[in-house]
Amino acid sequence: MEANTKPKLNLDGIGVTSRRTRERLVAGLEKKGIRNSAVLEVMRATPRHIFIEEAFSHLAYEDRPVNIGYKQTISQPYVVARMTETLLAAGRPERVLEIGSGCGYQTAIIAPLAGEVFSIERIKPLHDTAVANLRLLGIDNVKLIHGDGSLGHAEKSPYDAIIVTAAPLGVPRELLGQLAEGGRMVIPVGGPAGQELRLITRRGDQYLSRMLDHVRFVPLLKGQLRF
Ligand code: SAH
Repeated sequence: MEANTKPKLNLDGIGVTSRRTRERLVAGLEKKGIRNSAVLEVMRATPRHIFIEEAFSHLAYEDRPVNIGYKQTISQPYVVARMTETLLAAGRPERVLEIGSGCGYQTAIIAPLAGEVFSIERIKPLHDTAVANLRLLGIDNVKLIHGDGSLGHAEKSPYDAIIVTAAPLGVPRELLGQLAEGGRMVIPVGGPAGQELRLITRRGDQYLSRMLDHVRFVPLLKGQLRF
């Protein structure tokens, strides 16, 4: 019999990627003000190192963004926790739309806390990576879509929660229209000079907007790329 020479991926992690390192990250998030225990538990259980190239494993549980290629990054854990907690503050969302799957980390954090998730990524190799990562983690309530998410995904609207992980200069009108009554959207808005993270809540035809934080996301760009 031929020996299997492929190294087995260590889901649980060892050393700098171990559960203990993850515990330290989560303790740091609590200190920075994250209160939702379900969010903290999912972050404790989710191996962020599998979303990152092995050469950067030592950064997997630092509270900072990390390059994932194609000029994109995996979001900072604190920002992922904050956005997720904000969306969940009105209760468990049944249907969620995410714009900017990247490698799928934010998707993996919100999926266990929601009914179903639709997530759109414009760069095909990143979309493919996200598909593989979520499969590896056994997450099966997510539909990943390769495409331009700036117009949302009208087909499955309305959404109880919309999470945008790339920054437009202004809130796209189409996304507002796809929010359910009482629905919540978290979205970074602004250019290279600075962005604010906003929470937008829909009440009938009214949209309430609240500033949450100053943030720095990659820009929301139009069109889809195959490479
Ligand atoms: N949610 C990711 C963040 C990835 S960075 C995480 O958890 O780490 C943001 C992603 O948004 C990038 O992968 C970028 O390619 C993607 N993006 C930018 N504009 C987009 C658009 N119009 N439609 C879909 N994805 C877009």
